[in-house]
Amino acid sequence: MSEEIIIRCTGVRKSYRDGVLDVEVLRGIYFRLDRGEQVAIIGASGSGKSTLMHVMAGLDTIDDGLIELNGESISAYSEARRGDIRNRFLGFVYQFHHLLPEFTALENVAMPLLIRRTSDEESMSAAETILKRVGLEDRLFHKPAELSGGERQRVAIARALVTKPLCVFADEPTGNLDRETAESVYELMLEMNRDLGLSLIVVTHDPALAARMDRVLVLKDGVLNEQ
Ligand code: ADP
Ligand code: MG
Repeated sequence: MSEEIIIRCTGVRKSYRDGVLDVEVLRGIYFRLDRGEQVAIIGASGSGKSTLMHVMAGLDTIDDGLIELNGESISAYSEARRGDIRNRFLGFVYQFHHLLPEFTALENVAMPLLIRRTSDEESMSAAETILKRVGLEDRLFHKPAELSGGERQRVAIARALVTKPLCVFADEPTGNLDRETAESVYELMLEMNRDLGLSLIVVTHDPALAARMDRVLVLKDGVLNEQ
């Protein structure tokens, strides 16, 4: 069976200029993620995990190397073209849910589809289906302030999935939750990975949560290695 490569990084380098000093955060990243694979990226605070996520998703530029997303070499693309690919193929979950406070769970989840000019009816129906799937059928009309922390992250996961991405990036998705809630949010992400065949990259500094994934990679001194 031929494997489908969703993301490939080859010799990726990235520095930030800090005053007169160049701080090289990524010093030659080699990474490959196949369709349906799940990986955890762990590393100390400040090791460059978020930077790596951002460049892999085309949210930021690199200094050297190559990033391929679903076979396209995005590192050479313009910001607009990277944005287009990102919208088509990727979903994001962050530590803080970034839900819009004035909208209901249903509206928040429908938003990415509405932005793509999908009809109201179709957007709401897809949002409802995925919210049911994450166990929130009784919370469709609640606003973020009326939900618990775990429920808000479930809504954020539903929002990331509603566009049927090839890959979901989650940056410390449970960093703000208690242990038990964090576990259940992880379970949900792994279930979605299995059921929907999407690839999953989770950044965490929690080794116990990382150990639940197929592969654990460690980012240290600007390079990524299998644990
Ligand atoms: P992590 O997510 O592993 O905590 P980050 O990727 O956020 O690490 O940051 C890695 C390093 O790059 C840190 O030293 C941080 O201060 C620096 N850094 C991150 N973003 C910027 C930026 N926009 N400008 C300058 N330095 C940055
Ligand atoms: Mg980070």
